[in-house]
Amino acid sequence: MIQIAQPIFDKKEISAIIKTLKSSIVAQGPKVLEFEKKFARYCGTKYAIATNSGTAALHTALYACDIKEGDEVITTPFTFVATINAILQQGAKPVFCDIDLTTFNIDPTKIEQKITARTKAILPVDIFGHPYAIEAVGKIAQKYKLKIIEDACQAHGAKFQNKKAGAFGDVGCFSFYATKNITTGEGGIITTDNEKYAERARMFRHHGQSQKNRYQYFDMGYNYRMTDMAAALGLVQMKKLDAFNQKRIGNAKLLTEGLKKIKGIITPKIKNGYHHVFHQYTIRITDEFKINREQLSKYLIEKGIGNAVFYPNPLHLSPHIIKITGKPKILPVAEKMAQEVLSLPVHPSVSKKDIKHIINVIKSI
Ligand SMILES: *Cc1c(COP(=O)(O)O)cnc(C)c1O
Repeated sequence: MIQIAQPIFDKKEISAIIKTLKSSIVAQGPKVLEFEKKFARYCGTKYAIATNSGTAALHTALYACDIKEGDEVITTPFTFVATINAILQQGAKPVFCDIDLTTFNIDPTKIEQKITARTKAILPVDIFGHPYAIEAVGKIAQKYKLKIIEDACQAHGAKFQNKKAGAFGDVGCFSFYATKNITTGEGGIITTDNEKYAERARMFRHHGQSQKNRYQYFDMGYNYRMTDMAAALGLVQMKKLDAFNQKRIGNAKLLTEGLKKIKGIITPKIKNGYHHVFHQYTIRITDEFKINREQLSKYLIEKGIGNAVFYPNPLHLSPHIIKITGKPKILPVAEKMAQEVLSLPVHPSVSKKDIKHIINVIKSI
């Protein structure tokens, strides 16, 4: 079976973990500090604060930006549920904006109509590894004095012009879950240029404790700390990130060359100036295709090709979220995309032979 996702480790990861175990420092320690420094440098931000998941990173980022009960955060319904749960964790209200048909990202032309006196932030997601519309969203945020919290959990190394994901907004959030472009098993990190946000984030992940005076608490916080074992893994993975992404980009290119002429299949697009890192390679199956998406998905599995629908349920329709937002508005693009998308294997372990097989199987239908 060609898996839809597969982490890659070699001797370097194994020896880094063993070295950390032998050092006896296994909770947050020097490796976390080193990982934060290197990750911040990689993204081009002043600070990075590691956490034990991407969800924790998002929650911490919202806290750092002082998003609280009664505040509204404009975001996308077409994402993993963690994006929205983090907003709910802070007691804030997600306000859903429809998405763009080509990138699956928040549609900047529909944001302004969602702004109210309570709006405090925009939370765009670099879905599938394609950054959100940086300039258009940035202009709106500036005009209305809103913060931008970037969910870059799928976009390690993605770029707009010369700027990297994590540096687009006020705060960036990443995940190092097992299926992401690089992994620490579970893990996350926040990136920012804002010293105050960095300070608040460090406090929040450590029970609201002062950095200088232990057992002095500034506010409620959580245990969101990353372990040194995870950071040791992350340091090795980070060195491989650009090469991993190049492999993903190459695989995506081959898939698009093979699939783009098939009637009823729409292959992913990359907007001008953007560097897409293909966390997922996501096609659309329209009514013009010979069989429907569910039939195609099943057929691919029969042929040994892993695949998945990211995401079948747009979140503005999710019952636990409706409890907070009230009756959902119709978001036609997100709802249509949820019916049409299918992600195919694109990760660095997918070989040229695998790609040929995927293309041939789909073409044969
Ligand atoms: C993976 C992911 C998260 C959550 O990260 P975890 O590390 O699994 O907590 C949040 N948002 C998006 C878009 C993701 O893909």
